Amino acid sequence: MKRDLSEVQSGTKALWGGETDTVSGEATQVPIVASVAFGYDELDDWQAVALGSRKGHIYSRNTNPTVECFEEKIRILEGAEAATSFASGMAAISNTLFTLLESGDRLVSVRDTYGGTNELFRKFLPKMGIDVCLAETTDEDQIEAEIRKGCRIVYLETPTNPTLKVTDIARMASVAREVGALVITDNTFATPINQRPLELGSDLVLHSASKFLGGHADALGGAVCGPRDLIQQIFHYREITGAALDPFAAYLLLRGMKTLEIRVERQNASAMAVAQYLESKAEIESVHYPGLPSHPQHAVARRQMSGFGGVLSFALRGGYDAVRAFLPRLQLAHRAANLGSVETVVGPPATTSHVEVSAANRKAMGIPEALIRYSTGIENVSDLIFDLERALSSVATEELGMTGTRAVNRSD
Ligand code: PLP
Repeated sequence: MKRDLSEVQSGTKALWGGETDTVSGEATQVPIVASVAFGYDELDDWQAVALGSRKGHIYSRNTNPTVECFEEKIRILEGAEAATSFASGMAAISNTLFTLLESGDRLVSVRDTYGGTNELFRKFLPKMGIDVCLAETTDEDQIEAEIRKGCRIVYLETPTNPTLKVTDIARMASVAREVGALVITDNTFATPINQRPLELGSDLVLHSASKFLGGHADALGGAVCGPRDLIQQIFHYREITGAALDPFAAYLLLRGMKTLEIRVERQNASAMAVAQYLESKAEIESVHYPGLPSHPQHAVARRQMSGFGGVLSFALRGGYDAVRAFLPRLQLAHRAANLGSVETVVGPPATTSHVEVSAANRKAMGIPEALIRYSTGIENVSDLIFDLERALSSVATEELGMTGTRAVNRSD
């Protein structure tokens, strides 16, 4: 059944978008079509599908019914004309950039992008003759000035991983339009529940679906959404690089995405409460969360986001030694290089998202060695705060650069 979802809200879109059984026509859930190829008894039918004059599938590196349902769900959630999918978020980012850039082009981005993206900018794009300019993330005048010098692509990630810096998408998109540049926004941290970059003027929106979209840390995937002509070009490039999403992963992502809105709403509220709690603690040197009034770009975040997301980061007094002592004491968190899952996940960016980035570049990006990225799960928030309090209290006071003794009491 073709459902009209044009007037419904995001939670309903997340549930019903793309949910079409194109195989049996009867299953209420999208089936996993684990077939590499699709067979045709009539040669004319085969050719019509191969030439695109009839709907159907030929080979799963190109299209697959389960994968197509995932693409439709994210397309609807981002309010895009078209979407295509990838084996991971990095596949989405690299395939998109390799499709749209040519030798001699210039790309303007910010210093604080995800570690893998940063590697692509610093190491791989320059090797292809692409001039990459990484502006200071919080200096919007500098980003604007670099865009005005002329470029093919403006690449934004907001909020950034792991310091949660925010860039004004609408402002950068309007400058990019003046110079004929395309704006690409990585919306992994915000999700389409909290932020819709296409409505703010971005041309394309990218995701690591491995994070909040899937939400259960059991499937890798990526997506890019935008105008049909651009998506068609990126899809064609992906057919050749072969970075296709697997139908099993697509099924898990589709199932996870049904609860996207309720998960994200809870994670937004919990991250806010955890950030406020940490901000009140003497053991904590700094807290980075766009929902806090103390966040330097809080006003921009309020304008372009309807919620501030489930990830925050904070630096412990006492440096990396304090991190080493503190992290194992958390009982309600996976210590892992991941985020956006139903369980809370923690990790120092120096060993997770930015492990490939040199210590000097991490310093330049404003990532202290004592920084901890904290991705709130859907646990009860009072339990998370108690877990943090217990861990902070049990770390030797001198390791946290503090003096005196402390007691922990549970009061909720
Ligand atoms: N974009 C952001 C903001 C990320 O945090 C990540 C991974 O952590 C990626 C892209 C890459 O996604 P994937 O791990 O699915 O390749």
